[in-house]
This record gives sequence, structure tokens and C-alpha cells, in this order.
Amino acid sequence: MYVVTVDQELCTGCGECVAACPAQIFIVEGGKAVAGQDECLGCQGCVSVCPSEAIKVDEY
Ligand code: SF4
Ligand code: SF4
Repeated sequence: MYVVTVDQELCTGCGECVAACPAQIFIVEGGKAVAGQDECLGCQGCVSVCPSEAIKVDEY
């Protein structure tokens, strides 16, 4: 499984990850992206598009 973490201090709430994720696991809430933990496909697309390098995707 994959666990997605968003660094809340780095995230600017730009929404690029919301648009890029094929599994639609991100929402922007209160100006910050929040990730669900269970449907990530591990494609790393969000990591590539995030301008703030705020996203980490780890495989367990
Ligand atoms: S790695 Fe892919 S599926 Fe997982 S959260 Fe990022 S964009 Fe979505
Ligand atoms: S792409 Fe990065 S900076 Fe933009 S909302 Fe997503 S996590 Fe935050």
C-alpha cells in the first residue's frame, strides 16, 4: 500500500495535486491539501506536479 503525506508547512493550497491525481485522493481544505490514505496508485504524479515539493508517497 501507499501512504501519502502532505507537509502542511510547505503546501500553498494551489490545487495542482487535486487536478493531477487519477485516484482523486486530495482535497484542499482551509488552504491546505489533505490526502486520503487508502486509494493511492503509487504513480507519483502528485509528487511531480507539486511546486512546493510538499508531497511524499511511500510504499509499505
Ligand atoms: S501517487 Fe498518484 S495516485 Fe497516489 S496520490 Fe499521487 S497522484 Fe494520486
Ligand atoms: S500541489 Fe503541493 S502545494 Fe499545491 S495543493 Fe497540492 S500539496 Fe499543496
